[in-house]
Amino acid sequence: MKFDIMTLFPEMFETFKHSSIIGRAADKKGIIEINTVNIRDFSKSKQKKVDDAPYGGGMGMIMTFQPIYDTYLHITKSLDYKPKVIYMSPQGRVLTQKLAGELSECEHIIILCGHYEGVDERLIEEIVDEEISIGDYVLTGGELPAMVLIDSVARLLPGVLSKDECYLEESHSNGLLEYPQYTRPEMVNGRRVPEVLLSGHHENIRRWREEQSIKRTLKKRPDLLGRKDKF
Ligand code: SAM
Repeated sequence: MKFDIMTLFPEMFETFKHSSIIGRAADKKGIIEINTVNIRDFSKSKQKKVDDAPYGGGMGMIMTFQPIYDTYLHITKSLDYKPKVIYMSPQGRVLTQKLAGELSECEHIIILCGHYEGVDERLIEEIVDEEISIGDYVLTGGELPAMVLIDSVARLLPGVLSKDECYLEESHSNGLLEYPQYTRPEMVNGRRVPEVLLSGHHENIRRWREEQSIKRTLKKRPDLLGRKDKF
């Protein structure tokens, strides 16, 4: 799966692209490809300007149409298909595990990262298929949201996680939060691992985990129960 990221700050993605599970999926396994394209490189102004004041007045600067549109044309010029274009935006559909699953079916996604007060609205009309938000708060730019989106989507692709890291029983994968997890040692600061997990009895362990999952969802996130739209 390919991600092309249109951004003014490509350096923000360098560590992300090459670290941990995402780095392994990109650099070693070749399951994902993450390219960044610097919008400023496509500015036709002498000073490589990429923003301007808003019509009608107001605070802040708006990213202008031309450099972003030319970046988009550069990415898509040799393609015989239309990749999905996502604008990271606090006004978009909120990212959930279900949406990450839907996006993992795409072959190629182009992500537009806004900055300052956002982008000229005509870009959204012209090239964007979907606006996606990572939550109801406002960040300074779309770069962190783009990384969140790529991470949530990439880990669902076959082969990205090893068997040991499998996502199938994780929080949000089935509408419930994950059960409590423990590792060595059996006793720490007087706190012992629940006996059932040491029993080796698979059916009892499965039932205990299921019960714990329901209990902690009720306690921590009762709003999730019955919300089929999220999963
Ligand atoms: N003026 C915009 C508004 O009120 O909707 C907010 C602009 S925000 C300061 C700058 C950029 O950060 C946005 O263009 C978007 O790309 C990104 N951004 C900020 N918060 C976000 C969120 N919750 N989810 C996704 N992207 C976000």
